[in-house]
Amino acid sequence: MKVIEKINQSKKTLFSFELLPPLKGQDASKLYRTIEELMEFNPQYINLTTHRDEIEFKELSDGVFQKRTVRKRPGTVAIAAALQHKFNVPVVPHVLCAGYSKEETENMLLDLNFLGIKNILALRGDSLRTENLFKPQEDGHNYAVDLVKQIADIRNGKYLDPDLKNKTPLDFCIGVAGYPEKHFEAPNLNFDLENVKKKVDAGADYIVTQMFFDNKKYFEFVEKCRNIGINVPIIPGIKPLSKKIHFSLIPRIFSLDLPEELSKELQHCKSNDDALQVGTEWAIHQAKELIEKKVPSLHLYTYGLADNTKEILKTIF
Ligand code: FAD
Repeated sequence: MKVIEKINQSKKTLFSFELLPPLKGQDASKLYRTIEELMEFNPQYINLTTHRDEIEFKELSDGVFQKRTVRKRPGTVAIAAALQHKFNVPVVPHVLCAGYSKEETENMLLDLNFLGIKNILALRGDSLRTENLFKPQEDGHNYAVDLVKQIADIRNGKYLDPDLKNKTPLDFCIGVAGYPEKHFEAPNLNFDLENVKKKVDAGADYIVTQMFFDNKKYFEFVEKCRNIGINVPIIPGIKPLSKKIHFSLIPRIFSLDLPEELSKELQHCKSNDDALQVGTEWAIHQAKELIEKKVPSLHLYTYGLADNTKEILKTIF
């Protein structure tokens, strides 16, 4: 079933958690265990991230550095299908512009459809660590909006491959990203919002936000979206903090603010256990208010941490 149908049919707030595919060479048993633990809460869908190639430099014995391109977490398509069939819950694989040509994307969409996957989160992906600016793959997409257009074309039976025999329309539900504190590359929030609107106008069915730690930012974001004619559901993203280092890491990586109260509490944490407690309580406090305000769904950035996620879900649902 499509995420948008679930949202439209539900009278209460749904939830999904975001998981990472296993590292290259590992089997799926740890991921399965995490999901098994969370199934008692009846997640209505599960998001599965995708990770582009990374560049690594390895120092050789003669002191020379060797450049290596490696995909550390391959296999999103196969793992999405395996999870969906094992747990009988819709899985939403994240599909990236980064690292894929348009033709590879078309092939991936055909594979996903063949495997029964009907939901996609369409994203641009980030630049490589060795690049200042995002560079698309040769014959790939520059922005997520172009990927949304490609998927929307396929929904109308319009493919790139002229020789494709059966040009059946594939009915994917498309989610896209939004940034309550603006995307770090955008010069200002209004510019960024206009780009979110382009994705919706191109065919996105709903928006999932980047994590935020002050609900006010989400409510203001929704209001601004509505003011410029974005009318699709906007799903808030919640990240339960779990380590002391998140205090400095999260603002730097995601280009966002931690509220003063939260940052003070984290600063006083003596151990990761303390930080986990603070992060869990903060996420519960955020989620409770969001549910009260009847948000369509909660997107939990759990990355496989079942214990704190369980505590949050037990308290809020
Ligand atoms: P876009 O919508 O293309 O926006 C990127 C930037 O370009 C923005 O600053 C925007 O304002 C600007 N822009 C957009 N369109 C135009 C235009 N036409 N002209 C000029 N400027 C434009 N990354 C991963 O690698 N794997 C994942 O699994 C993953 N999952 C994510 C899940 C969620 C819910 C979110 C919020 C993010 C996720 N990301 C993931 C991160 C995402 O890939 C990065 O934030 C990326 O930098 C931007 O992706 P986007 O889809 O928002 O890009």
